[in-house]
Amino acid sequence: MKNELLDRDTFRESVFKRDGHLCVICGEHAIDAHHIIERRLFPDGGYYLDNGASLCEKHHLEAEMTTLTCVDIREAIGIKTVVIPPHFYEDVEYDKWGNQMLRNGTRVKGELFDDESVQKILKAGNVLSEFTHHVKYPRTYHLPWSPGMNRDDRMMNDTNIFRGQKIMICEKLDGENTSCYTDRVTARSLETSSHPSRNWVKNLWAQFGYNIPVGWRVCGENMFAKHAIHYSKANGNALETYFYMFSIWDDKNMCLSWDETLEWAELLELTTVPVYYYGVYDIDVITELNDKMEDSPNNIEGYVIRLAREYHYSEFRDVCGKYVRKNHVQNNHGHWTTQKITKNELK
Ligand SMILES: [Zn+2]
Repeated sequence: MKNELLDRDTFRESVFKRDGHLCVICGEHAIDAHHIIERRLFPDGGYYLDNGASLCEKHHLEAEMTTLTCVDIREAIGIKTVVIPPHFYEDVEYDKWGNQMLRNGTRVKGELFDDESVQKILKAGNVLSEFTHHVKYPRTYHLPWSPGMNRDDRMMNDTNIFRGQKIMICEKLDGENTSCYTDRVTARSLETSSHPSRNWVKNLWAQFGYNIPVGWRVCGENMFAKHAIHYSKANGNALETYFYMFSIWDDKNMCLSWDETLEWAELLELTTVPVYYYGVYDIDVITELNDKMEDSPNNIEGYVIRLAREYHYSEFRDVCGKYVRKNHVQNNHGHWTTQKITKNELK
């Protein structure tokens, strides 16, 4: 098996053996069995042969500073299988520290960006100026009891973190994840082109965007166009607005507590997602909600649970989980953008 998880020593030996103990970039004597993608980004340590590269001191430093890219390193070795942590996206290019590298030359901060050692090495590499303050909305893992898991989906390891904690449960709306900054509105991928379904939210943003602090982002669901569920009077799920806000992140990439989020919603005059429950985690509440989901007509996608307290971007997949109803067709890849728009309806 080429890409089985190795222990630390076997990883080192196997990487050196494959590369003949020579730096894969310059052919000098290799001193480091380098992790192409940082091991801390992997839940299992990332000791996979195809995530390793033998490097000399100079090229090791360049790889850590990210001036030598993961793509360069894989190409030098001839690695075809890109090993990435399970919560990463296969169609996205990352630097060593899990920051996203966009085709336009800018980078998007990842979960280790604020880490002190990462800051230091990126500064040494003189690449901090390449970063935009736009951040990709993280992938929401499924709750272990979510019936709508698809092949590409990820599941939370456990939900013990919710026990005894104050949580918020809200409806999961079937729209397009959207982030509003003071200078720009972005869809999830950050690189998506303009689409008529985004105009309504852009017009709304023109009215409140100037109140968003620099480096902060207001995240919500753009509900203008039908994706899989049609929100309409006939279906009994007509909308209050085409933009439902669900979280606000500050310039340190902290997601504000739910209480603070509500205060900001009032200030910005935005509608927040419909809340099913706000209180201490209670399994009876969850059971009741699951029954309701299964019994209700096919006009709800599911629900999302988050910890009510504030949390950092790097905690997201442990403190936030979704329940998606069985047979719900998810449109994560934007296929709906190529279809003719069917407008959702307001109440
Ligand atoms: Zn070298």
